[in-house]
Amino acid sequence: MSHTLVLATRNKGKIGEFRRILDAIAPGEINLIGVDEFADLVDVEETGKSFEENALIKARYTAAATGLPAISDDSGLCVDFLNGDPGIYSARWAGEHGNDQANLEKLLAQMKDVADENRTAHFTCVAALALPDGRIHVEEGFFPGHILHTPIGENGFGYDPIFAPDGLSISSAQMSAEAKDAISHRGKALRSIAPHVIQILRSLG
Ligand code: IMP
Repeated sequence: MSHTLVLATRNKGKIGEFRRILDAIAPGEINLIGVDEFADLVDVEETGKSFEENALIKARYTAAATGLPAISDDSGLCVDFLNGDPGIYSARWAGEHGNDQANLEKLLAQMKDVADENRTAHFTCVAALALPDGRIHVEEGFFPGHILHTPIGENGFGYDPIFAPDGLSISSAQMSAEAKDAISHRGKALRSIAPHVIQILRSLG
């Protein structure tokens, strides 16, 4: 039996990544669709004070608005020297939402005179499942590393050109999508929540 699950995103890359993860565990069982399939869904404001709150806001809104089980993710970069900033403000760190270049330049300027040993950071991702009946399930993934002094690499997005994953001598913008998925915060959170999603959807009959 096939279950429909709505992913609270308009990002085709995220839909493809999560579809691959679900299909690897339960081939053909979950029909994953994005919110673009629903004409009247708005982009709900992320007013939460944590990644978990924001992921739940998106998943709950999508489940309530569609009447279908919904999943969302919320992520960001947490820099130890900046007490966890930009954190939930990662996408709008320089003011304008989604200006990756301006965000990255602002962060580099803030870290200008910071010594290598104090440049530790991690990406975090929280994945949240919400059902129309109010049930929820949440999982988290971390991707530890440090902030480089200058951007390098053409792949990825956001802060990838200035993030060096622990144990590697390249930035995450120099990794292939597959290699990054295997160790990234998003890959870990999605792989953690996938078995729970499948179990809960199966229990719906
Ligand atoms: P969202 O979870 O898609 O809203 O991501 C929030 C922001 O966090 C993005 O706009 C990026 O600035 C940053 N971010 C999240 N994940 C990554 C990543 O894997 N690489 C680089 N930047 C990321």
